Amino acid sequence: MKSITFSCCLFIIGSTTTHCLAQGYPNTPPEVSPMPMKPEMTEVWEPEVKVISAAKKLGDAPSDAIILFDGKNLDQWVSQKDVTQPAPWKIIDKDYLEVAPQSGGIQTKMQFGDCQLHIEFSAPDVVDNQGQGRGNSGIFFQNRYELQILDSYNNRTYRNGQAGSIYKDHAPLVNAMRGPLEWNSFDVIYTAPRFKADGRLDSPARITVLHNGVVVQNNVTINGLTLYTGLHTYPSSHGEDVISLQDHGNKTQFRNIWIRRL
Ligand code: MG
Repeated sequence: MKSITFSCCLFIIGSTTTHCLAQGYPNTPPEVSPMPMKPEMTEVWEPEVKVISAAKKLGDAPSDAIILFDGKNLDQWVSQKDVTQPAPWKIIDKDYLEVAPQSGGIQTKMQFGDCQLHIEFSAPDVVDNQGQGRGNSGIFFQNRYELQILDSYNNRTYRNGQAGSIYKDHAPLVNAMRGPLEWNSFDVIYTAPRFKADGRLDSPARITVLHNGVVVQNNVTINGLTLYTGLHTYPSSHGEDVISLQDHGNKTQFRNIWIRRL
């Protein structure tokens, strides 16, 4: 009986030693109290967080934003049909921008990766057509991944193709679309995909979208290049790229577009 008890003790000691060795602390005494912490030991002071000025009105650009369109001109944009040419869309009332159907999309001159984007849009003033044919446009991050713009007010279509969807990838959580004579906003936090040195995907893009202040995409994974036909997969490695706005043949309107690099 004594030998059995002795063997059990050895087993317990042996298990403890093995456990400590596995943790990489073979000589750590079992009963050592950690040093008492003071509040300031977890405070980080340097470097000081950069100070910016937030806008007075929610939705307007903060001081560190890059203004992509404020009603004055399209100097930050070029034509997608010929990037050496100015953006062919119309500025109306020195306030908003309207797609010139069949002129082609427009894209930023600057390239972006991770970013915060604010953009306001309105469906065409005249409601016609239905489904994907009504007020269709889109925002392509890195010229590849589409956040859909559509007149989704009383306009049923496939759920992963309506306003606020990541086109044919993620439906929006809710339909927060306003009527066609009202302005909508998208506030987007976009994380670009990362690629390994050999060009293979390391981590996919992610996106959070607020439509009129309502979360419609909550840090979802973008599953690849936006395609009309076929499953989405990632292209080969790419870096920062332009943001483009789609000409889908409808007179969709835009205003107050600004971006912050993250
Ligand atoms: Mg579209």
